[in-house]
Amino acid sequence: MKIDLIKNGTVIDHQEVGTGIENAKILGAKEYVRSSDNHSTVSIAMNVESKRIPGGRKDITKIENRELEPKETNKIYLNSPHSTINIIRDYKVVEKRKTKLKKGEILTNITKCTNPTCICNPQTKKDGTIIREPVPYKTVVTDEKIPKIKCFYCDRDIDDIYENLIF
Ligand SMILES: [Zn+2]
Repeated sequence: MKIDLIKNGTVIDHQEVGTGIENAKILGAKEYVRSSDNHSTVSIAMNVESKRIPGGRKDITKIENRELEPKETNKIYLNSPHSTINIIRDYKVVEKRKTKLKKGEILTNITKCTNPTCICNPQTKKDGTIIREPVPYKTVVTDEKIPKIKCFYCDRDIDDIYENLIF
């Protein structure tokens, strides 16, 4: 490892190469480090050698002084299904966050639906008046390994998960 140990925070390991930056974005890392009284470091190591991940390379993201919310854990899993999330307190791993999702599990407000006429997307007239208020976005896990999800309301598969994540 070429990046330092952290005292407190979250380490996301075994991320598919290229997703380290995406996951930092999902977690709002830029806003986090720019918030005024924050002296925490976010480090992203890309293309690190790994025996465990397919392709032999991985990304690692370390966020000081921030423990991930369960909802954020789901987003990271959807974007990097091989990733492992460790919560660190006083240099020790105190929690290995479960990143798996179950088939049939319903996720609320994690991704948008790509179907513009779906009930979860706002319907507006040309002048901007809202015809129908949107309902919360809901998706169902259809394959837990790849993973794959579809819209709870209209059954449309959400193919490009990262592009449709809400963050
Ligand atoms: Zn839909």
